[in-house]
Amino acid sequence: MPNLTDVGSIRALLNRHDFTFSKSLGQNFLVNPAVCPRMAEACAESHAEGVVEIGPGIGVLTQELVQRFRKVVCYELDSRLLPVLGETLAAYDNVCVRNEDVLKADIPALLAQSFGGMRVSVCANLPYYITSPILMFLLENRFPFSNVTVMVQKEAADRICAPVGSRLAGALTAAVHYYAEPEKLFSVSRGSFLPAPNVDSTVIRLTVREKPAVEVADEARFFRLIAAAFAQRRKTAVNSISAGTGLSKQTVEDALLSLGFEKNVRAETFTLEDFAALDAALLRSAARE
Ligand code: SAM
Repeated sequence: MPNLTDVGSIRALLNRHDFTFSKSLGQNFLVNPAVCPRMAEACAESHAEGVVEIGPGIGVLTQELVQRFRKVVCYELDSRLLPVLGETLAAYDNVCVRNEDVLKADIPALLAQSFGGMRVSVCANLPYYITSPILMFLLENRFPFSNVTVMVQKEAADRICAPVGSRLAGALTAAVHYYAEPEKLFSVSRGSFLPAPNVDSTVIRLTVREKPAVEVADEARFFRLIAAAFAQRRKTAVNSISAGTGLSKQTVEDALLSLGFEKNVRAETFTLEDFAALDAALLRSAARE
């Protein structure tokens, strides 16, 4: 079996399969031997029996997951990697690879048919070009995953893990904190990959909450408010929220004043609790007009 953290062995494996890296699919494969065991271990801490891996590549993380979980299902979009994975995972009978775009995956059917009642987590070195869509797909559909342990670009990790209401926070921060408790686990330098990308990475773990961090009457409306609030960060909350939601400036100002905010407050200072209170106040304020 080829050593998947040895550059010479990887090149020989890929040459045998006539494989060339696709930049557009975010193909930077991990070669630092310390990273995958640590990621798999962190993911396994929640005692899930099953794990879904997104983008196994040549299987370097998969080989660690199969040793720690009863069942592993991988989604790999690039069909050229299937024969490679057939070789590198040949020794394991608890793994199955699906040649599908994870964003189109029927996760409820997967959980019922492939994992039948097991607790399941997600582990991945994510393709960075779709980090936010994948995280939102996993979280907002409320799939019952125990945790989502993923490697993302360092800057994305900084934003995701920043407290809501701090300078680095944005709409993704608010959404992730609503559904999960995010934490940074460890940093991974660009030299840990083949080919080396021009960014550094961080492994983060999102522990999915049993119920969202705040209670809101209408989630879709709540997230429209958050998207509006962060769409024009330099503007005051009144201007950005009014522009993004179509509510009148007066309605937004009344709602903010009723909650004790100054009328020129900026939305980037709001916590999730502030957003939830504002959502309810906007509803009351609009009803009075
Ligand atoms: N897990 C491997 C590793 O750590 O070396 C590879 C990680 S590489 C950063 C990302 C992988 O995701 C690639 O194998 C790529 O082909 C795959 N991928 C890209 N877009 C995908 C999608 N929409 N669904 C499933 N896999 C995808």
